Amino acid sequence: KEFAEVSIKDIDQVAKSSFPLCMRHLFEKLREDHHLKHGGRMQLGLFLKGVGLKLDDALAFWKAEFSQKVGAERFDKEYAYSIRHNYGREGKRTDYTPYSCQKIISSNPGVGDHHGCPYRHFSEENLKAALSKMGVNSGALENVMDKVRNRHYQLACTLTFESIHGSSNDAGINHPNQYFSDSHEIFKS
Ligand code: SF4
Repeated sequence: KEFAEVSIKDIDQVAKSSFPLCMRHLFEKLREDHHLKHGGRMQLGLFLKGVGLKLDDALAFWKAEFSQKVGAERFDKEYAYSIRHNYGREGKRTDYTPYSCQKIISSNPGVGDHHGCPYRHFSEENLKAALSKMGVNSGALENVMDKVRNRHYQLACTLTFESIHGSSNDAGINHPNQYFSDSHEIFKS
């Protein structure tokens, strides 16, 4: 589901309150390293498109980070194209859709990659630390880890959502953009 509009000025706030862990992780790594490898750029880039970040804002957002690492010129030459491509403005002009949980969970992040689903791809220790940082209390954390051990990653994500928002999510999480819009609905009201 397409989302109304998120602008660059409130993106940090929105990332903290309403991004699922997979996207928070990519977002934080991008802010920290001023760089993401291809898999991460695709997963986060299409998600941001899905939350309503306009192409011009997307270009400005990625450029602000990448130019700190590779310089503005190299960004324009090597990276801007693929962002426009994601928005259907280059190549075959396909309007690419954001990845579902299923696709993200079955991805295969390698060394130095930050894409994937943390419930599936993080070590237990790193996942616990990330969940505590997100504000999941210790009781809920045990339930989440229990789902993870049984390989119910989307249920683990749903329990995380419920713990953080203090509200049930009966449909369950099956798409990062659904997590986002469900969260936004709650904070809006
Ligand atoms: Fe992201 Fe889906 Fe994994 Fe949640 S279950 S962290 S939304 S891929």
